[in-house]
Amino acid sequence: MQDKPVQKSELKKSCVNCGAELVYAPGTTQLECDYCGHSQEIPASESGFEELELKPYLEALGSQSHSEAISMLTCKNCGANQHVEENYKSLHCVYCSSPLIVEDIHKEEWILPGAVLPFQINQGRAHLIFKQWVKKLWWAPNKLKKASLDPQNTKGLYVPYWTFDAQLFATYTGQRGDYYYVTVPYTTTVNGKTVTRTRQERRTRWTPASGSISGFIDDTLIKASKQRSGIIPTKVERWNLKELQPFDSSYLAGFVTEKYTIPLKEGHLESNKEAERIADRWVRRDIGGDTQRVHSVNMKLTEETFKHILLPVFVSAYVFKGKRYNFFVNGQTGALAGKRPYSFWKIFFFVLFIIAIISILVFVLKDQ
Ligand SMILES: [Zn+2]
Ligand SMILES: [Zn+2]
Repeated sequence: MQDKPVQKSELKKSCVNCGAELVYAPGTTQLECDYCGHSQEIPASESGFEELELKPYLEALGSQSHSEAISMLTCKNCGANQHVEENYKSLHCVYCSSPLIVEDIHKEEWILPGAVLPFQINQGRAHLIFKQWVKKLWWAPNKLKKASLDPQNTKGLYVPYWTFDAQLFATYTGQRGDYYYVTVPYTTTVNGKTVTRTRQERRTRWTPASGSISGFIDDTLIKASKQRSGIIPTKVERWNLKELQPFDSSYLAGFVTEKYTIPLKEGHLESNKEAERIADRWVRRDIGGDTQRVHSVNMKLTEETFKHILLPVFVSAYVFKGKRYNFFVNGQTGALAGKRPYSFWKIFFFVLFIIAIISILVFVLKDQ
């Protein structure tokens, strides 16, 4: 591993006109000043993606190359670990909205991201998507509708993931099953008489199979955040990774970045399980036939590399009757999902209303 100059995540990005903090403008390749409108281009990366060789990182103890110290704040309420710019004055946890105390900022080491998927939609747009969704919700408490009007509750967050690449090779043994049909007689009763009929039944002819498969596994995506409340619904957790950019800390400006809480080692174990599932699929395809039995797979992964990547979501945190709710909007596609509270009273009165209608109908129809 050669030591390249490490890119600082905390370079101050100040406006040349007015000195205010520059923030990344979603959907562009620019940093913008919210105060005077000045904008500046984020230089295109020349280096491309940094796929890191996995083995040295799994074995490394202590500090590693391609890592650096960044400012972190840990939420005392929910444990979320978020990277913040030091010039932020007032902060709230993205997941639970608890206030964070700037004095608690501490330095932590992290493996530098190899790529980032920049936000494509801005906070205003995400908030609008959220608001329109809440408006259409049935049985939602009025308080939720009110809370959704506060754009401060919708925050842009870069969520950490690991991706793994590897060359897969496996030998296997199993059985190939081919379907065939036989005509089987059976008896049944028609008009009180017993008759004999025939029907087609499917059978499987099994033949032994063995062989080997190989191929490249590209970008197995593994979540690197332990946040329980932050479990991003599958509907939202779909990004177009073709649009990943080589990491540049400029894209983080103005957003919160979560540091991985699932270590590389654990992420790697997870990706191995995924590799086993992929191997199983490839083996079955290789065996062919209509159905397969897989007895043994001897899998080997080589040339393993990984990347730490950051993916964009908007999180809206909302507490209702002591329970926390999170809504998520995909920062690239705008897809939305989340758990929602129901209003007991709205449902109660609706049921009452239905009962009243039925009672009236029964009363009216009775006299006809
Ligand atoms: Zn400015
Ligand atoms: Zn929190």
